[in-house]
Amino acid sequence: MHRGLVVVSLVTCLCAALVLGTPPAWAVDGSLPVAGPVVRGFDPPEVRWGSGHRGVDLEAPAGADVRSPADGVVSFVGVVAGRPVVVIDHGDVRSTLEPVEGSVAVGARVGRGDVVGMLVAGHACPAASCLHWGLKRGDEYLDPLSLVTAGQVRLLPDDATAAVRERARQRAAALAALGAGGGALGSGVLARPADGAVTSRFGMRFHPIFHEWRLHAGVDLSAPCGTPIRAAADGVVTHAAYDASGGWRLVIAHGSLGGVDLQTVYLHAQGYSVRVGATVTRGQVVGSVGSTGWSTGCHLHFSVKADGRQVDPEPWLA
Ligand SMILES: [Zn+2]
Ligand SMILES: [Zn+2]
Repeated sequence: MHRGLVVVSLVTCLCAALVLGTPPAWAVDGSLPVAGPVVRGFDPPEVRWGSGHRGVDLEAPAGADVRSPADGVVSFVGVVAGRPVVVIDHGDVRSTLEPVEGSVAVGARVGRGDVVGMLVAGHACPAASCLHWGLKRGDEYLDPLSLVTAGQVRLLPDDATAAVRERARQRAAALAALGAGGGALGSGVLARPADGAVTSRFGMRFHPIFHEWRLHAGVDLSAPCGTPIRAAADGVVTHAAYDASGGWRLVIAHGSLGGVDLQTVYLHAQGYSVRVGATVTRGQVVGSVGSTGWSTGCHLHFSVKADGRQVDPEPWLA
C-alpha cells in the first residue's frame, strides 16, 4: 500500500473544509513543481477506498526547492499524519505537494514557478526521494501531468477530467475482457513461489513510464533480495536466461494440471540454480529474488500461462 494515500485523503478532506465559495474556473497553465523525472505515474483506484496512486511522483533530492505548479492561493500548510504538506488552490483544481516543508503562509498568492517550500525525504517511491504531486477537482483526482503536457501545452481542466474518465472506462472494459482467469478450477494447484505479500495484482494498470493502460500479466510478490524462489509445481525448466525487461527469467512447463496445460514464469531474480531441461519438484528452490531487468525494487514477478494464455495467478495459488 502506498503510504501517501492516507495522507492525501486526509489533506483533501481538510482542504474541502477550508475552501470557501466557488473560485472562478480558469484554464490552468502549469509547470512541474520540481524538474523530475516522473518515476511513478497517476493510477487512480477503481473505487474511492481502493489502492492506486492518486498523483505522480517526481524524483528530486531532499532539500530541493518545490515550486507552485500554477498560479494560485496557498490553502493549507502543515503536517498531516506525520507528513508535511502544502496545498495550493488554482481555482477549480488544487495541487497537493508532499512531503514538503512549506515556506509560504496560508492565504498567500503564488505565481506559477514560485518556490513554496522544500522537499523532505519520506515519500515511498521508486527513487531515493520524491515529490508526490496530487491534483483534485472537488473529490475527483486528476492526472497532474495533464497540466504540463509535452511542450507545456495548455490544457483545460475539463479536458483533464474527461481524459481520466476515458481511461477508467478503458480499464473497466479491459478487465471485463480478461474474464475470470483460473477461477475455482485451478485453486491450490500451484505452491506460492516466494514468501512475500502481493504488492501488485494481475490486471490493467497505468504504466508509469509509457503513460498508458497496460496489462500487468502477473503478480508481484515483494520480498527481500536473496529470498528463495521455489518451483510452483513439478515440471521441466524450458527457459532460463537474462533479458532487458524481465532480467533473469525462468519458465517451467508443468504439463497438464487442473485440466489445462500450465506454465509458470519467474522474473527479476538475482539468478537461478537450475538449467534448461532440468526436472524440478514442487517447492524446490530454483533461484533467489532480485531486482534485475525492469524492476524498481526486490520482488518476484510471477505469472501463469494456462493453455498459452496469461491468467491471473492468484486463484491458482495454494
Ligand atoms: Zn506518490
Ligand atoms: Zn510485475
